[in-house]
Amino acid sequence: MSRFFSEKYKDLEPYVPGEQPQDMQYVKLNTNESPFPPSPSALYYASEAARPANLYSDPDCTQLRKTLAESYGIGAENIICGNGSDEILNFAFMAFCDPRHPAVFPDITYGFYPVFAKLNGIMYREIPLEPDLSIDPARYIDSGMTIFIANPNAPTGKLLSPIQIEGILATNPENVVVIDEAYIDFGGISCVPLIKQYSNLLVVQTFSKSRSMAGARLGFGIGSEELIADLNTIRYSINPYNVNSYTAALGVGTLLDPEYTKANCATIMKNRKMFTKGLRDMGFEVLDSAANFVFAKHPLINGQEVYEKLKENGVLVRHFAKDRIKDYNRITVGTAEQIDELFGAIKRIWRIR
Ligand code: PMP
Repeated sequence: MSRFFSEKYKDLEPYVPGEQPQDMQYVKLNTNESPFPPSPSALYYASEAARPANLYSDPDCTQLRKTLAESYGIGAENIICGNGSDEILNFAFMAFCDPRHPAVFPDITYGFYPVFAKLNGIMYREIPLEPDLSIDPARYIDSGMTIFIANPNAPTGKLLSPIQIEGILATNPENVVVIDEAYIDFGGISCVPLIKQYSNLLVVQTFSKSRSMAGARLGFGIGSEELIADLNTIRYSINPYNVNSYTAALGVGTLLDPEYTKANCATIMKNRKMFTKGLRDMGFEVLDSAANFVFAKHPLINGQEVYEKLKENGVLVRHFAKDRIKDYNRITVGTAEQIDELFGAIKRIWRIR
Protein backbone atom coordinates (compact mmCIF):
# COMPACT_ATOMS: atom_id res chain seq x y z
CA MET A 1 0.00 0.00 0.00
CA SER A 2 1.41 3.45 -0.86
CA ARG A 3 1.33 6.19 1.73
CA PHE A 4 -1.07 8.01 -0.61
CA PHE A 5 -3.84 5.43 -0.50
CA SER A 6 -7.09 6.94 0.72
CA GLU A 7 -8.05 6.29 4.34
CA LYS A 8 -11.44 5.27 3.01
CA TYR A 9 -10.08 2.16 1.35
CA LYS A 10 -7.28 1.11 3.67
CA ASP A 11 -9.18 -1.85 5.08
CA LEU A 12 -10.85 -2.86 1.83
CA GLU A 13 -10.42 -6.52 0.99
CA PRO A 14 -10.92 -6.73 -2.76
CA TYR A 15 -12.87 -9.46 -4.48
CA VAL A 16 -10.67 -12.34 -5.60
CA PRO A 17 -11.76 -13.47 -9.05
CA GLY A 18 -11.31 -17.08 -10.18
CA GLU A 19 -7.94 -17.82 -11.72
CA GLN A 20 -7.45 -17.00 -15.38
CA PRO A 21 -4.07 -18.69 -15.88
CA GLN A 22 -2.10 -17.66 -18.93
CA ASP A 23 0.82 -20.10 -18.45
CA MET A 24 -0.71 -23.38 -19.58
CA GLN A 25 -3.90 -24.95 -20.86
CA TYR A 26 -6.17 -26.27 -18.14
CA VAL A 27 -9.50 -28.01 -18.31
CA LYS A 28 -11.04 -24.80 -17.08
CA LEU A 29 -14.03 -25.46 -14.84
CA ASN A 30 -13.49 -22.70 -12.30
CA THR A 31 -15.34 -19.56 -13.44
CA ASN A 32 -18.58 -20.79 -14.99
CA GLU A 33 -17.82 -19.58 -18.47
CA SER A 34 -19.52 -21.16 -21.46
CA PRO A 35 -17.37 -23.76 -23.21
CA PHE A 36 -18.95 -22.69 -26.51
CA PRO A 37 -17.80 -19.76 -28.66
CA PRO A 38 -20.06 -16.72 -29.17
CA SER A 39 -22.73 -17.10 -31.84
CA PRO A 40 -21.57 -16.58 -35.45
CA SER A 41 -24.18 -13.83 -35.66
CA ALA A 42 -22.47 -12.06 -32.72
CA LEU A 43 -19.12 -12.15 -34.51
CA TYR A 44 -20.66 -10.74 -37.68
CA TYR A 45 -22.19 -7.80 -35.82
CA ALA A 46 -18.94 -7.10 -33.95
CA SER A 47 -16.96 -6.98 -37.17
CA GLU A 48 -19.40 -4.38 -38.49
CA ALA A 49 -18.95 -2.36 -35.29
CA ALA A 50 -15.18 -2.27 -35.76
CA ARG A 51 -15.50 0.24 -38.58
CA PRO A 52 -16.49 3.40 -36.67
CA ALA A 53 -14.09 2.74 -33.77
CA ASN A 54 -12.75 6.29 -34.00
CA LEU A 55 -16.05 7.42 -32.45
CA TYR A 56 -17.19 6.87 -28.87
CA SER A 57 -19.68 4.12 -28.25
CA ASP A 58 -23.38 4.98 -27.87
CA PRO A 59 -23.75 5.84 -24.15
CA ASP A 60 -27.39 4.72 -24.28
CA CYS A 61 -26.70 1.37 -26.02
CA THR A 62 -29.79 2.20 -28.07
CA GLN A 63 -29.77 -0.77 -30.44
CA LEU A 64 -28.79 -3.25 -27.76
CA ARG A 65 -31.49 -2.05 -25.37
CA LYS A 66 -34.06 -2.12 -28.16
CA THR A 67 -33.09 -5.69 -29.03
CA LEU A 68 -33.16 -6.71 -25.37
CA ALA A 69 -36.57 -5.04 -24.96
CA GLU A 70 -37.94 -7.03 -27.88
CA SER A 71 -36.45 -10.26 -26.53
CA TYR A 72 -37.99 -9.78 -23.07
CA GLY A 73 -41.28 -8.09 -24.05
CA ILE A 74 -40.53 -4.93 -22.03
CA GLY A 75 -39.64 -1.31 -22.83
CA ALA A 76 -36.15 -0.04 -23.60
CA GLU A 77 -36.68 2.44 -20.73
CA ASN A 78 -36.73 -0.58 -18.37
CA ILE A 79 -33.16 -1.56 -19.25
CA ILE A 80 -29.66 -0.40 -18.37
CA CYS A 81 -26.53 -2.02 -19.81
CA GLY A 82 -23.22 -2.38 -18.07
CA ASN A 83 -19.66 -3.58 -18.27
CA GLY A 84 -20.57 -7.00 -16.96
CA SER A 85 -23.38 -7.49 -14.46
CA ASP A 86 -20.80 -6.75 -11.74
CA GLU A 87 -20.97 -3.12 -12.77
CA ILE A 88 -24.77 -3.04 -12.57
CA LEU A 89 -24.64 -4.68 -9.14
CA ASN A 90 -22.18 -2.05 -7.92
CA PHE A 91 -24.43 0.70 -9.31
CA ALA A 92 -27.33 -0.88 -7.40
CA PHE A 93 -25.40 -0.84 -4.11
CA MET A 94 -24.54 2.82 -4.75
CA ALA A 95 -28.03 3.83 -5.84
CA PHE A 96 -30.27 1.93 -3.43
CA CYS A 97 -28.38 1.58 -0.14
CA ASP A 98 -27.81 4.23 2.51
CA PRO A 99 -27.94 4.36 6.31
CA ARG A 100 -31.74 4.06 6.21
CA HIS A 101 -31.55 1.20 3.72
CA PRO A 102 -28.64 -1.08 4.60
CA ALA A 103 -28.01 -4.12 2.43
CA VAL A 104 -28.97 -7.69 3.24
CA PHE A 105 -27.95 -10.91 1.52
CA PRO A 106 -27.26 -14.56 2.40
CA ASP A 107 -24.06 -15.48 4.28
CA ILE A 108 -23.13 -17.81 1.44
CA THR A 109 -23.62 -16.10 -1.89
CA TYR A 110 -21.77 -14.21 -4.60
CA GLY A 111 -18.58 -12.93 -2.96
CA PHE A 112 -18.78 -9.54 -4.61
CA TYR A 113 -21.81 -8.39 -2.55
CA PRO A 114 -19.90 -7.72 0.69
CA VAL A 115 -17.07 -6.15 -1.31
CA PHE A 116 -19.43 -3.71 -3.05
CA ALA A 117 -21.03 -2.92 0.30
CA LYS A 118 -17.68 -2.17 1.93
CA LEU A 119 -16.37 -0.26 -1.09
CA ASN A 120 -19.35 2.07 -0.82
CA GLY A 121 -19.36 2.33 2.98
CA ILE A 122 -22.71 0.53 3.20
CA MET A 123 -23.79 -1.35 6.33
CA TYR A 124 -24.94 -4.87 5.60
CA ARG A 125 -26.36 -7.95 7.24
CA GLU A 126 -25.83 -11.53 6.20
CA ILE A 127 -28.66 -14.02 6.72
CA PRO A 128 -27.44 -17.61 7.14
CA LEU A 129 -28.49 -20.18 4.61
CA GLU A 130 -30.49 -23.09 5.99
CA PRO A 131 -28.60 -26.27 7.02
CA ASP A 132 -29.19 -27.71 3.52
CA LEU A 133 -27.64 -24.52 2.05
CA SER A 134 -30.96 -23.25 0.68
CA ILE A 135 -32.32 -19.73 1.08
CA ASP A 136 -35.41 -19.51 3.25
CA PRO A 137 -37.43 -16.66 1.67
CA ALA A 138 -39.36 -16.20 4.94
CA ARG A 139 -36.22 -14.68 6.44
CA TYR A 140 -36.43 -11.76 3.99
CA ILE A 141 -40.06 -10.84 4.70
CA ASP A 142 -40.45 -7.24 5.95
CA SER A 143 -36.67 -6.85 6.02
CA GLY A 144 -36.54 -3.05 5.90
CA MET A 145 -33.29 -3.42 3.93
CA THR A 146 -32.15 -3.47 0.33
CA ILE A 147 -32.14 -7.14 -0.58
CA PHE A 148 -29.63 -8.86 -2.86
CA ILE A 149 -30.39 -12.45 -3.83
CA ALA A 150 -28.64 -14.46 -6.51
CA ASN A 151 -31.16 -16.82 -8.10
CA PRO A 152 -30.00 -19.49 -8.63
CA ASN A 153 -27.68 -18.78 -5.74
CA ALA A 154 -23.93 -19.06 -6.20
CA PRO A 155 -22.01 -21.15 -5.35
CA THR A 156 -24.80 -23.54 -4.31
CA GLY A 157 -26.81 -23.58 -7.56
CA LYS A 158 -30.05 -23.68 -5.54
CA LEU A 159 -33.11 -22.00 -7.00
CA LEU A 160 -36.08 -20.03 -5.65
CA SER A 161 -39.36 -19.91 -7.59
CA PRO A 162 -40.89 -16.62 -8.78
CA ILE A 163 -43.70 -17.18 -6.22
CA GLN A 164 -41.17 -17.32 -3.39
CA ILE A 165 -39.53 -14.15 -4.68
CA GLU A 166 -42.91 -12.48 -5.05
CA GLY A 167 -43.42 -13.03 -1.32
CA ILE A 168 -40.24 -11.05 -0.68
CA LEU A 169 -41.20 -8.28 -3.14
CA ALA A 170 -44.70 -7.86 -1.76
CA THR A 171 -43.56 -7.56 1.86
CA ASN A 172 -40.73 -5.11 1.16
CA PRO A 173 -42.55 -2.35 -0.76
CA GLU A 174 -40.28 0.35 0.67
CA ASN A 175 -37.09 -1.44 -0.31
CA VAL A 176 -35.43 -2.41 -3.54
CA VAL A 177 -35.05 -6.14 -4.11
CA VAL A 178 -32.22 -7.04 -6.48
CA ILE A 179 -32.49 -10.49 -8.04
CA ASP A 180 -29.20 -11.48 -9.65
CA GLU A 181 -30.12 -13.90 -12.43
CA ALA A 182 -26.62 -14.57 -13.75
CA TYR A 183 -27.46 -18.29 -14.05
CA ILE A 184 -31.21 -18.21 -14.73
CA ASP A 185 -30.99 -19.50 -18.31
CA PHE A 186 -29.99 -23.00 -17.18
CA GLY A 187 -33.46 -24.11 -16.17
CA GLY A 188 -34.80 -21.44 -13.78
CA ILE A 189 -37.83 -19.20 -14.26
CA SER A 190 -36.91 -15.52 -14.56
CA CYS A 191 -38.53 -12.80 -12.46
CA VAL A 192 -38.35 -10.29 -15.34
CA PRO A 193 -42.16 -10.38 -15.93
CA LEU A 194 -42.65 -9.27 -12.30
CA ILE A 195 -41.15 -5.82 -13.00
CA LYS A 196 -44.54 -4.78 -14.40
CA GLN A 197 -46.14 -5.41 -11.02
CA TYR A 198 -43.35 -4.52 -8.58
CA SER A 199 -41.66 -1.15 -8.88
CA ASN A 200 -39.14 -2.24 -6.23
CA LEU A 201 -37.73 -5.11 -8.33
CA LEU A 202 -34.41 -4.91 -10.14
CA VAL A 203 -33.41 -8.02 -12.09
CA VAL A 204 -29.76 -8.26 -13.11
CA GLN A 205 -28.59 -10.57 -15.87
CA THR A 206 -25.40 -11.21 -17.81
CA PHE A 207 -24.12 -12.27 -21.22
CA SER A 208 -21.17 -14.00 -19.53
CA LYS A 209 -22.65 -17.44 -18.94
CA SER A 210 -25.45 -18.69 -21.21
CA ARG A 211 -24.47 -16.31 -24.00
CA SER A 212 -20.75 -17.14 -24.23
CA MET A 213 -19.53 -13.57 -23.81
CA ALA A 214 -17.62 -13.51 -20.50
CA GLY A 215 -14.58 -11.88 -22.10
CA ALA A 216 -16.62 -9.15 -23.77
CA ARG A 217 -18.09 -7.97 -20.44
CA LEU A 218 -21.78 -7.29 -20.85
CA GLY A 219 -24.54 -7.29 -18.26
CA PHE A 220 -27.87 -5.53 -17.82
CA GLY A 221 -30.44 -4.52 -15.28
CA ILE A 222 -34.21 -4.66 -15.79
CA GLY A 223 -36.65 -2.75 -13.62
CA SER A 224 -39.15 0.09 -13.42
CA GLU A 225 -38.32 3.21 -15.42
CA GLU A 226 -37.63 5.06 -12.14
CA LEU A 227 -35.13 2.49 -10.85
CA ILE A 228 -33.35 2.48 -14.21
CA ALA A 229 -33.21 6.30 -14.18
CA ASP A 230 -31.53 6.19 -10.75
CA LEU A 231 -28.95 3.70 -11.99
CA ASN A 232 -28.30 5.91 -14.99
CA THR A 233 -27.64 8.87 -12.70
CA ILE A 234 -24.88 6.80 -11.12
CA ARG A 235 -23.62 5.49 -14.47
CA TYR A 236 -23.44 8.96 -16.03
CA SER A 237 -21.49 10.10 -12.97
CA ILE A 238 -18.88 7.38 -13.42
CA ASN A 239 -18.56 6.27 -17.04
CA PRO A 240 -21.22 7.00 -19.65
CA TYR A 241 -19.33 4.93 -22.24
CA ASN A 242 -19.32 1.89 -19.99
CA VAL A 243 -20.19 -0.54 -22.80
CA ASN A 244 -17.84 -0.47 -25.77
CA SER A 245 -19.08 -0.63 -29.36
CA TYR A 246 -17.79 -4.16 -30.06
CA THR A 247 -19.38 -5.60 -26.97
CA ALA A 248 -22.72 -3.91 -27.66
CA ALA A 249 -22.63 -5.29 -31.21
CA LEU A 250 -21.73 -8.79 -29.98
CA GLY A 251 -24.71 -8.51 -27.66
CA VAL A 252 -27.12 -7.55 -30.46
CA GLY A 253 -25.84 -10.36 -32.68
CA THR A 254 -26.23 -12.86 -29.85
CA LEU A 255 -29.81 -11.79 -29.13
CA LEU A 256 -30.72 -12.11 -32.81
CA ASP A 257 -29.65 -15.76 -32.72
CA PRO A 258 -31.65 -17.05 -29.73
CA GLU A 259 -31.69 -20.64 -31.02
CA TYR A 260 -27.93 -20.83 -30.61
CA THR A 261 -28.10 -19.80 -26.95
CA LYS A 262 -31.04 -22.09 -26.31
CA ALA A 263 -29.25 -25.09 -27.82
CA ASN A 264 -26.11 -24.41 -25.77
CA CYS A 265 -28.13 -24.12 -22.56
CA ALA A 266 -29.91 -27.39 -23.37
CA THR A 267 -26.53 -29.09 -23.83
CA ILE A 268 -25.25 -27.74 -20.51
CA MET A 269 -28.43 -28.90 -18.72
CA LYS A 270 -28.08 -32.35 -20.26
CA ASN A 271 -24.41 -32.48 -19.27
CA ARG A 272 -25.25 -31.29 -15.75
CA LYS A 273 -27.43 -34.34 -15.26
CA MET A 274 -24.69 -36.69 -16.42
CA PHE A 275 -22.07 -34.73 -14.43
CA THR A 276 -24.09 -34.84 -11.20
CA LYS A 277 -24.76 -38.57 -11.56
CA GLY A 278 -21.13 -39.35 -12.40
CA LEU A 279 -19.86 -37.43 -9.36
CA ARG A 280 -22.42 -39.12 -7.10
CA ASP A 281 -21.38 -42.52 -8.46
CA MET A 282 -17.84 -41.68 -7.34
CA GLY A 283 -19.02 -40.92 -3.83
CA PHE A 284 -19.36 -37.14 -4.03
CA GLU A 285 -22.28 -35.37 -2.40
CA VAL A 286 -23.65 -32.99 -5.03
CA LEU A 287 -26.33 -30.34 -4.50
CA ASP A 288 -29.08 -30.30 -7.12
CA SER A 289 -28.09 -27.38 -9.31
CA ALA A 290 -30.13 -25.07 -11.53
CA ALA A 291 -26.95 -23.36 -12.81
CA ASN A 292 -24.05 -24.18 -15.14
CA PHE A 293 -22.00 -25.44 -12.20
CA VAL A 294 -22.38 -27.94 -9.39
CA PHE A 295 -21.33 -27.67 -5.76
CA ALA A 296 -19.83 -30.93 -4.59
CA LYS A 297 -17.93 -32.44 -1.68
CA HIS A 298 -16.50 -35.85 -0.95
CA PRO A 299 -16.96 -37.22 2.56
CA LEU A 300 -13.42 -38.61 2.59
CA ILE A 301 -11.44 -35.96 0.72
CA ASN A 302 -10.66 -32.50 1.99
CA GLY A 303 -12.07 -29.72 -0.25
CA GLN A 304 -8.78 -27.85 -0.50
CA GLU A 305 -7.04 -31.09 -1.48
CA VAL A 306 -9.59 -31.74 -4.24
CA TYR A 307 -8.83 -28.30 -5.66
CA GLU A 308 -5.04 -28.61 -5.36
CA LYS A 309 -4.67 -32.14 -6.70
CA LEU A 310 -6.97 -31.44 -9.64
CA LYS A 311 -4.96 -28.32 -10.48
CA GLU A 312 -1.71 -30.31 -10.41
CA ASN A 313 -3.41 -32.62 -12.89
CA GLY A 314 -4.48 -29.83 -15.23
CA VAL A 315 -8.09 -29.33 -14.08
CA LEU A 316 -9.16 -26.04 -12.51
CA VAL A 317 -12.15 -25.89 -10.16
CA ARG A 318 -13.15 -23.26 -7.59
CA HIS A 319 -12.60 -23.71 -3.88
CA PHE A 320 -13.76 -21.20 -1.26
CA ALA A 321 -11.91 -21.14 2.06
CA LYS A 322 -15.01 -19.90 3.93
CA ASP A 323 -15.64 -22.16 6.92
CA ARG A 324 -19.15 -23.27 6.14
CA ILE A 325 -18.37 -24.39 2.59
CA LYS A 326 -14.68 -25.30 2.75
CA ASP A 327 -15.42 -28.99 2.15
CA TYR A 328 -16.97 -28.18 -1.22
CA ASN A 329 -15.74 -27.24 -4.67
CA ARG A 330 -17.74 -25.43 -7.29
CA ILE A 331 -17.24 -27.05 -10.65
CA THR A 332 -18.44 -25.61 -13.96
CA VAL A 333 -20.47 -27.92 -16.17
CA GLY A 334 -18.47 -28.10 -19.38
CA THR A 335 -18.59 -30.18 -22.52
CA ALA A 336 -18.82 -33.99 -22.41
CA GLU A 337 -15.07 -34.09 -23.20
CA GLN A 338 -14.21 -31.78 -20.30
CA ILE A 339 -16.34 -33.86 -17.95
CA ASP A 340 -14.55 -37.02 -19.14
CA GLU A 341 -11.19 -35.38 -18.43
CA LEU A 342 -12.29 -34.36 -14.94
CA PHE A 343 -13.67 -37.82 -14.16
CA GLY A 344 -10.45 -39.40 -15.50
CA ALA A 345 -8.35 -37.14 -13.27
CA ILE A 346 -10.47 -37.91 -10.17
CA LYS A 347 -10.21 -41.64 -10.77
CA ARG A 348 -6.44 -41.50 -11.32
CA ILE A 349 -5.70 -39.26 -8.33
CA TRP A 350 -7.88 -40.92 -5.71
CA ARG A 351 -7.98 -44.39 -7.28
CA ILE A 352 -11.76 -44.35 -7.44
CA ARG A 353 -13.25 -46.88 -9.83
N1 PMP B 1 -23.58 -12.60 -10.28
C1 PMP B 1 -23.17 -13.83 -9.97
C2 PMP B 1 -23.99 -14.64 -9.01
C3 PMP B 1 -21.99 -14.36 -10.53
O1 PMP B 1 -21.56 -15.57 -10.19
C4 PMP B 1 -21.26 -13.57 -11.44
C5 PMP B 1 -20.01 -14.12 -12.08
N2 PMP B 1 -18.87 -14.05 -11.34
C6 PMP B 1 -21.71 -12.27 -11.71
C7 PMP B 1 -22.89 -11.83 -11.12
C8 PMP B 1 -20.94 -11.34 -12.56
O2 PMP B 1 -20.88 -11.69 -13.89
P1 PMP B 1 -20.43 -10.67 -15.01
O3 PMP B 1 -19.84 -9.45 -14.36
O4 PMP B 1 -19.45 -11.45 -15.82
O5 PMP B 1 -21.67 -10.33 -15.76
